[in-house]
Amino acid sequence: MKSINPYTGKTLKIYNPHSDHQIKETVERAQDTFLMWKKIGFEEKAHFLNKAADILESKKEHYAKLISLEMGKMLKESVAEIEKCAWVCRYYAEKAEGFLADSPLDLPDDKKAKLKYNPLGVILAVMPWNFPFWQVFRFAAPNLMVGNTGILKHASNVPQCALAIEEIFEEAGFPKGCFQTLLISSDKVKSILQHPSVKAATLTGSEKAGEIIASHAGEVLKKTVLELGGSDPFIVLADADVEKAAKTAAKSRMINFGQSCIAAKRFIIHKKVYDKFVEVFKKEIEGLKQGDQFDENADYCCMARPDLAEELFAQVNKSIAMGAKVILEGSRPEEGKALFKPYIISDITPDMPAYHQEMFGPVATIFKINSEEEAIKIANDSPYGLGSSLWTSDMDKADELAGQIESGAVFINELVASSPYLPFGGIKRSGYGRELAELGIKEFVNIKTVSFTQS
Ligand code: NAP
Repeated sequence: MKSINPYTGKTLKIYNPHSDHQIKETVERAQDTFLMWKKIGFEEKAHFLNKAADILESKKEHYAKLISLEMGKMLKESVAEIEKCAWVCRYYAEKAEGFLADSPLDLPDDKKAKLKYNPLGVILAVMPWNFPFWQVFRFAAPNLMVGNTGILKHASNVPQCALAIEEIFEEAGFPKGCFQTLLISSDKVKSILQHPSVKAATLTGSEKAGEIIASHAGEVLKKTVLELGGSDPFIVLADADVEKAAKTAAKSRMINFGQSCIAAKRFIIHKKVYDKFVEVFKKEIEGLKQGDQFDENADYCCMARPDLAEELFAQVNKSIAMGAKVILEGSRPEEGKALFKPYIISDITPDMPAYHQEMFGPVATIFKINSEEEAIKIANDSPYGLGSSLWTSDMDKADELAGQIESGAVFINELVASSPYLPFGGIKRSGYGRELAELGIKEFVNIKTVSFTQS
């Protein structure tokens, strides 16, 4: 398993994958630890989780450098990612006990019953490279507070991040076995998931991986949470603050060099504000500077792997060949390199890859619309339904239209962003289940009904 700097192509480290014997030991240790961990009180668990937050904060430059080196994120963005991980640890350390307190049920007569939220056991987490710390911590923090234990199979291109996360939890004092990393290829996932001690799985990744993991889990009737792709609409209506919308749109499209599930990808703009939007949006993206991950004067570096740059270019190129208009011309990535220049394209028709497929990188597609109805129609004409951003000065209209948009979240006059306080997840081919907030901590619990009758 190789750790490669995508900007230079240089191999940083090579790891031997864990053997079948080590995988077996890891699962057994996770189960043994669970039997002890599930009895630990909230105060003690919160102490360890706050310690993990302290470690993240005190060594944020170090961990951020690992992220930047392995997947090409700008260092300042990597630092922000580490800070967010500390935030989610502190959030669940403080809130978990309240979220998981027994809740009484409303019953007729003098009946009494309540719900208890008990841990499930060992949970397998299969995670992507794009936010290699954040995706893992938003799973691990709530689940460790529940009393579950976790096994991480991280994306193969971020092994240093994967091992660092395991070390953080160990250094924080969590018993070995609470959170373990396995360096394994994806073909090992099925046997782990189907091990009797593993009770459920969460995947953040592509639709293809989602289909496969859900079917493996389905064979043995285990629960999954799937956080998959997105092609989020960014709708700007005629009465919006178009300048602010266009600047925010550029930011939302270019976060993490476009490699974010909740990046705005399809810009659906009312004809009355279209020209102004395009002018400002293009200027913003054109003005961004490319450099290496550590260049303080640069805004973006490169994509996470050369094959991803090639794949994205193929989608754009095919759409252009089919008639898409180029508003901002990028460039073909050099063979074997992860460098990419952003594109903006318009005049997208449903037969083009750019219409229905997720463009997982710095490519924006723009649609000109005549009415609010048309905006909603195009927004919903997607296999995905993760986030969406809607811009209007009329809050009643925003509320009404938010109800019509097929997505897991609608952000009004702001970009879609994740926060520990907001439930996060999708519908349609963006997956199912929710992470973060109170809903997130209740995905992998046994919601147990306890009914009392006086003897
Ligand atoms: P990916 O190729 O699906 O990889 C994600 C994880 O799944 C990796 O650990 C990968 O391991 C593993 N995997 C892939 N195929 C598998 C299989 N057949 N069986 C078991 N495990 C398998 O996705 P990616 O390219 O890393 O990430 C980009 C995708 O993730 C985009 O579609 C993006 O929108 C989505 N995403 C969604 C969210 C969300 O919250 N909804 C957040 C971030 C990203 P290997 O690396 O070893 O192949």
